[in-house]
Amino acid sequence: MNKEELTEILSDNSNNNRLYKEADRVRRENVGDKVHLRGLIEFSNICKRQCKYCGLRSPNKDVERYRILKDDIINTAANAVNLGYRTIVLQSGEDDYYDTDKITEIIREIKKFDVALTLSIGEKTYDEFKEFKKAGADRYLLRIETTDENLYKEMHPHASYENRKRCLYDLKSLGFETGTGCLVGLPNQTIESLADDILFFKEIDADMIGIGPFIPHEQTPLKDASKGDFWLALKVMALTRINLPNINIPATTAMETLNPQGRIIALQSGANVVMPNVTSTEYRAKYEIYPGKICINDQPEKCRGCIEGKIRAIGRTISKNKGFRNKPNL
Ligand code: SAH
Repeated sequence: MNKEELTEILSDNSNNNRLYKEADRVRRENVGDKVHLRGLIEFSNICKRQCKYCGLRSPNKDVERYRILKDDIINTAANAVNLGYRTIVLQSGEDDYYDTDKITEIIREIKKFDVALTLSIGEKTYDEFKEFKKAGADRYLLRIETTDENLYKEMHPHASYENRKRCLYDLKSLGFETGTGCLVGLPNQTIESLADDILFFKEIDADMIGIGPFIPHEQTPLKDASKGDFWLALKVMALTRINLPNINIPATTAMETLNPQGRIIALQSGANVVMPNVTSTEYRAKYEIYPGKICINDQPEKCRGCIEGKIRAIGRTISKNKGFRNKPNL
């Protein structure tokens, strides 16, 4: 679809159900009925950045900051592997304590478990990305957040849109399965820019796309902004599936925060991945990028069983492989 078509569909709500169904069909035909689970470890909520929407932004003094150290991260990963996860995702704020040596050591240890490893630790240099790849990391998640450059500037003080894009192209060129995505419902975000976001995903040939509604956080400059619309976020996700048929698309946690059935609805509207939290309960509430995060009091065992039940209830099953984009049997 071109920009005009995308904008028209995004602006017209009379055929939404047909669109969600079509995305579900495209998902089934291209990536099948299996759902890939990724075990998410939120290993540090310390961040040097000031993203206006994010509760972990450095000026927020009301967060109790934590770091999970190497051995604990590895134990958490081992526990997730025992629960059947075939991918481990390491996510954090931009915390310079974890330098290249520390991250590569963690990567090498976790890769011994015969799992795919995804990093989601923010913007780095080409050489750092290269070291992560050499150490065995398979995938990297870095949302572009918005392709509207003015809005990007407004939302990310002291950051550069060009650098974020550079990171994504570096990751692609280094052979990472590259994930990006956007927020839906940022203040002053236009429908046209959401159409551009989808075209950008296609332009860089993203392997994974995460779409989430914006949720205002009380301790950020956007505390009084309106929250994003669940159905619009779902629509951007459905259009992403239709335009990039064979990629991996998670049913995001932020969707479930706005709608108690959010992840299941997403799985029936184009998504084929879920990223349950496997972080120990003592840290979960402190990784508060937005309020109302689900499952903050649950142990990893509970989340694993809970999501499996929901997935089976809609007639889908859990994949037993690592869930690479273009290697369906790996
Ligand atoms: N530091 C890493 C990880 C960021 S957290 C990085 O820069 O990639 C993962 C995602 O949470 C972000 O990319 C952003 O899209 C989302 N997020 C942050 N604050 C949010 C909010 N208030 N509402 C919804 N999603 C949010």
